[in-house]
Amino acid sequence: VIRTVLGDIPSDELGVTDAHEHLLIRGGLPVERDRDFLLDSVDRAVEEVGRFLAAGGRALVDAMPGGLGRDPDGLVEVARRTGAHIVAVTGFHKLLYYDTEHWVYRYQEDAIADLLVAEIEEGMDRHGYRGPLVDRSPAQAGAIKLATDYYRMGPVEEKLFRAAAQAQRRTGAPILTHTEHGTLAREQATYLIDCGVPPDRIVIGHLDKNPDLDLHLEVLQTGVYVQYDQPGRAKYGPDSRVVELLASVVEAGFGDRVLLGLDLARRSYWRAFGGGPGMDYLLTRFVPRLRRAGFSEDAIRALVVGNPARVLALRRTP
Ligand SMILES: [Zn+2]
Repeated sequence: VIRTVLGDIPSDELGVTDAHEHLLIRGGLPVERDRDFLLDSVDRAVEEVGRFLAAGGRALVDAMPGGLGRDPDGLVEVARRTGAHIVAVTGFHKLLYYDTEHWVYRYQEDAIADLLVAEIEEGMDRHGYRGPLVDRSPAQAGAIKLATDYYRMGPVEEKLFRAAAQAQRRTGAPILTHTEHGTLAREQATYLIDCGVPPDRIVIGHLDKNPDLDLHLEVLQTGVYVQYDQPGRAKYGPDSRVVELLASVVEAGFGDRVLLGLDLARRSYWRAFGGGPGMDYLLTRFVPRLRRAGFSEDAIRALVVGNPARVLALRRTP
C-alpha cells in the first residue's frame, strides 16, 4: 500500500505522480530567510493541484518534513477538496534550516527513529515536534525525507541518516533525499545501503541540478532510484538537458529507476500566486516534449506511474 494523508491506498491506484512537490509551507527558517518560500494558502494549493489533475495528474508527494512549515491538516484539506492522492513526509531537511538549539543536534539515534516511526504509524505531529507537547493529526507520513548540504555530511547528518534507516526498516517506508546541487548523491546511497536500507527503497533527489550523466549512472548502479525535479525552472538550466539525461538513462536500462517532479517550493513558481511554471507544467509541457523526443508511452508511463507506485509502497524487508 501507499500511505497518503487520507489513508492507505493500493499502489496500483496511485496514478500519474509528481514525486517532489510543495503544497504548503507555513513557516520555519526557510520562510524566515526568504518570504518566497511561504506557501500558506489552502485555496491556492487547491487551485494549483486542480490544474495538475486537469492535465491528467493524480498524486503528489509533499516533500516538506515537520517543523519547517509542514501542515498535515492543511494537506488533508487539499486532498479532500481536490481528490488528489497526497503523500506527506517525516524526517529532515538540511541542517541550515534548524536553529542551534534544535533537538536534531541533541537527541540520540534511537529516540529520533522512534519519532519518525510514530509519524508514519500513528500520525504526524501538528507542531512538527517543535514541542513540548505532541498533538498528532490523524494524517500519517508515507515517506522519510533526508538531506545533505553542499558537500557536507557530518556526524549530525550521519546520525539522522542512521535514525531514518532504522525507521525505514521498522516501517517499510521509502526514503527520499535532498542533495545540494547533486553533491554527495553516491555517498547518500551507499551510506543508507550500508545501514541496511534496500537500494530499491531509496530515492536520491535533485540529481538534474548536476547534469552529469556519468555520475547519474554511477548512482543508479547502486540500485537506488534517482529523481529529476527541475523541469520548468529555467533559471537552473533548460528542459532540453533533462530530456537528454532521461534519454540516456533510459537507453542505459534504468528507465525503471527514475522519478519526475517539479519541486515548486516558491510562490514565484505558482501560477496561483501570479508566477510560473505552475504545477501542471510536468504534464502540459514536459511529458509532451518527451513524446516528441521519441519516448515510448511505456517509458513515459514508467516514469510517472509505475516507478512512483513501486517505490512509494510501504514494504518491510524480512
Ligand atoms: Zn523540495
